[in-house]
Amino acid sequence: MAGFLRWFGILCLAGAVWLLLAGAGGWVAEGRVEALARTAAMVGIAALAAGIALGFVGRVSRPLTKGRCAKCGVRIERGQVYCLDHLLATVDETRERARNEVCRRRSGSSR
Ligand SMILES: [Zn+2]
Repeated sequence: MAGFLRWFGILCLAGAVWLLLAGAGGWVAEGRVEALARTAAMVGIAALAAGIALGFVGRVSRPLTKGRCAKCGVRIERGQVYCLDHLLATVDETRERARNEVCRRRSGSSR
């Protein structure tokens, strides 16, 4: 949506420039060209500004909507990776792995 608005704005501005050139070249009646070019330029600037603003808002609000568990997608606090269940599961898993590592080292050194 933001990208489309930006392109639309650029297109309108290009159209306004083209109209002014056409008016200067005498291809189109000059009286009508100026009003048309002004309208096209205003629509173009508005669309361009809206596109940029939408893009900015989207970039700012994305981290807010990202607050979801990496495993099950449940809503969580900002800055966290897992929900409480998966956080505990990950902690247990890590603890288990560390314990296994220690046991393996002990059994290896006793040999
Ligand atoms: Zn989860």
